[in-house]
Amino acid sequence: MKVAIVGGGIVGLSTALNLKNEFRDSKITIIASSFEDTTSHVAAGIFRVASSFSGPTDEITWKWIKDSYEYYDDIRKTEEAALAGITNVSGYIFAKSSPYAIKNQWMEKLLPIYRKVTPEELKLVEGGWKYGSFFMTILNETSLHLPWARQKLILNGTVLVEKTVNSLKEITKNFDLVINCSGLGARELCNDRHLVPIRGQVTKVKAPWIKTFFYGENDTYIIPGFNGICTLGGVRAFDSENREFCPHDAASIRERCVKLIPSLSKAEVVRHMTGLRPHREGNVRVELEKISDEFSSKMVVHNYGHGGYGVSTAPGTAKYAVELAKETRRMSSKL
Ligand SMILES: Cc1cc2nc3c(=O)[nH]c(=O)nc-3n(C[C@H](O)[C@H](O)[C@H](O)COP(=O)(O)OP(=O)(O)OC[C@H]3O[C@@H](n4cnc5c(N)ncnc54)[C@H](O)[C@@H]3O)c2cc1C
Repeated sequence: MKVAIVGGGIVGLSTALNLKNEFRDSKITIIASSFEDTTSHVAAGIFRVASSFSGPTDEITWKWIKDSYEYYDDIRKTEEAALAGITNVSGYIFAKSSPYAIKNQWMEKLLPIYRKVTPEELKLVEGGWKYGSFFMTILNETSLHLPWARQKLILNGTVLVEKTVNSLKEITKNFDLVINCSGLGARELCNDRHLVPIRGQVTKVKAPWIKTFFYGENDTYIIPGFNGICTLGGVRAFDSENREFCPHDAASIRERCVKLIPSLSKAEVVRHMTGLRPHREGNVRVELEKISDEFSSKMVVHNYGHGGYGVSTAPGTAKYAVELAKETRRMSSKL
């Protein structure tokens, strides 16, 4: 089976890896405008899926989240974990305004530790916090994970092509199956008006002494990563197309993070990064569509619109997308 996957971010690569496992003799080509300049490279990479994250039903959403966690947790237990950029990380989320901010229906059910903090823990960082949760989760350092996934795919025969696809029809004629993992690019490819960019910006600093993550209010977060590099965030600008670095956002991020942990004032800045989260109003789209031209019709599996949670949930939606692909194979073999 000749398969084209459009998109070389976390969703496209995770889908290709799952597909290769399920269809060992498939010939996979990943076509992407870029394999390096993606939203996936910007992500802080923490496995934390908000309660609002939605698939078509709660049952399917839960399956995506659970399958994703199990996939990463299995890698975490192997010798490859460090190479793949996967590790455990623990920390706190604090809030003042509302107890809802520290609750999370998916994570409370999934993670091995998710508990209310003690009154002493509320004083661990500055801020006069009223509510808090402590949890242990997975960290995916995408600057390691994405090259690791690409290398794995190249070794098993996957072809990576850097090219912009102008329409899905343009490639359906050359492949038996197309899987669309184009993130925000699906706005044009599918004319999907439900996709909205949510602009984000982070600052990477050298802070090897930070071992615990902290979330405060107003999208403030401090997440320790590999090699002593810590991600400071953040920004969530709904419907903003702007990927330019904003010095005002950088100053605000720094100020908010230093307020939480004053020692960060001496942390050296490594780089600033910006990205557009591919948010889809309603739900993430993982579904089949028949695309026809005057000569033939082909099935396309869509897998896009993961918003701020694509690094966390990509392995689960990838598995689901490949199950849909299997269904189309079964249907076509019966005809
Ligand atoms: C600041 C920030 C922090 C984040 N932190 C986290 C986090 O901690 N945890 C988490 O789970 N998520 C996080 N996210 C969200 C996460 O980054 C995204 O959900 C995820 O990267 C989406 O992956 P994707 O593969 O769908 O899209 P992308 O990574 O954008 O990949 C899309 C791919 O499609 C290609 N493409 C698009 N259009 C075309 C076309 N027409 N032809 C060919 N190729 C095309 C692109 O070149 C690219 O290769 C964060 C995002 C931001 C911005």
